[in-house]
Amino acid sequence: MKEKCRVTGKTRYESHTEARVAMEVLRMDKPHYDISGKRVKHRQGQPKQIRYFYCRFCGGYHLTKWRQKEYRDYNDREGIKGV
Ligand SMILES: [Zn+2]
Repeated sequence: MKEKCRVTGKTRYESHTEARVAMEVLRMDKPHYDISGKRVKHRQGQPKQIRYFYCRFCGGYHLTKWRQKEYRDYNDREGIKGV
């Protein structure tokens, strides 16, 4: 069971390596199929923008699906250093 960050409520990863592995797993995700069993290409939907960032509150790393702008705004506001 993963630790959760008290500030962000997100799963906490000990290292950026661990966060990156988790991110890759999420990116691969399960293939999507429509009702006829045909595989639906990811590109047809909005591509997942998963990134990880260092959290200065818990000293760990978290994953986020935010878009770049939101991510940047959050960094600016909270002073959390991106990776
Ligand atoms: Zn945290």
